[in-house]
Amino acid sequence: MINVDKIREDFPILKRTVHGKPLVYFDNAATSQTPQAVIDTIVDYYSNYNSNIHRGVHTLSQEATDKYEEARIKVQKHFNAKEAYEIILTAGTTHSINIVAAGFTSLIKKGDEVIVSALEHHSNIVPWQMMCEKTGAILKVIPMFEDGSLDMDTYHALVNEKTKLVFCNHVSNALGTLNPIEEIIKKAHEFNAAVMVDGAQATPHIKPDVQALDADFYVASAHKLCGPTGVGLLYGKEEWLQKLPPYQGGGEMIATVSFKKTTYAGLPHKFEAGTPNICGGIAFGAGLDYMNAVGFDNIAKYEHELLTYGTAELLKIEGLKIYGTTTKKTAVISFNVGEIHPYDIGAILDKLGIAVRTGHHCAQPIMDFYQIPGTVRASFSFYNTKEEIDILVSGVKRAVRMLS
Ligand SMILES: *Cc1c(COP(=O)(O)O)cnc(C)c1O
Repeated sequence: MINVDKIREDFPILKRTVHGKPLVYFDNAATSQTPQAVIDTIVDYYSNYNSNIHRGVHTLSQEATDKYEEARIKVQKHFNAKEAYEIILTAGTTHSINIVAAGFTSLIKKGDEVIVSALEHHSNIVPWQMMCEKTGAILKVIPMFEDGSLDMDTYHALVNEKTKLVFCNHVSNALGTLNPIEEIIKKAHEFNAAVMVDGAQATPHIKPDVQALDADFYVASAHKLCGPTGVGLLYGKEEWLQKLPPYQGGGEMIATVSFKKTTYAGLPHKFEAGTPNICGGIAFGAGLDYMNAVGFDNIAKYEHELLTYGTAELLKIEGLKIYGTTTKKTAVISFNVGEIHPYDIGAILDKLGIAVRTGHHCAQPIMDFYQIPGTVRASFSFYNTKEEIDILVSGVKRAVRMLS
């Protein structure tokens, strides 16, 4: 059970006002808010043991190294990776995807096929298009249906012996659709194709088990998990991380360097060139600790209540249309009202203290599918309340009255 009043006490930002109104924060799919425990972790790092890791003989460096490696183990346990060195700490989802896409550029040949879903964030489209341009690989797309779900029959028909890689999000950030990634992975593996799952939008709601899913790569960002910006993970199965070449050269990723030949460090350091976001990594661990203490079963149950309530209340508004209507979805409501531009609704809601996202949500192909410029997206978290949804609904009604 979620005690939402108690949880809200943990988030200082939820006490602030915007344009004189209490903040109603419904932009959780873009970034989550930060609990005091994570803020304290960041302050503690810079106040007490800020230091570079892995190379220092002195106490501060050792303390920072220990905490950083502890954070890696927290991430490993959270995602149930087999080994801690299968967790690469990166700058976030986009960075993680680019590491994998750049690595595959040297493993993929002309005429090989790679498959992407129609529901992807631009982060999970553009790096692969760049890879295809360089290699001559062919990009195929799993189409979507009107309700925002994937056309799995077509997916099954697309996979064949030429397929080398499939990349798909676990949950769509624009619509909230929960994709059948178990089925996607199983099918790809029948043809020995690797699968990279973009978990940026699933991880705030679901605790994924990368071994049970049998994902080859799984990526996510700390800032959607109550952690700081600029840090995330790339999970890769050991055999794949061994096969991929390093992404960047620099300090930390080498074993030995001479002008004749440099040899690379083992995992995970091979992919962690340069001084990482040390404080961010440690705070990433603190964010996971916080969410696990709340409990992902509790989070899923509570957010589902918010989704059901919010959907029913918003649909009472005349002319309001929700995009992404499959029953398998997380607490994201993407909508438009009549012909009103989503930006105009968003701007009025902001004046009322309500933070929503408007636009294409970095998923233009989805907007093209629906032939709309964008949507208003309200995305809920476990610290939101039904009262806040009521404020949103009356805010939308007011915006509609003003704009029509
Ligand atoms: C947020 C998001 C991304 C991008 O994450 P960054 O932290 O900006 O790198 C990619 N894919 C999905 C599904 C997302 O929700």
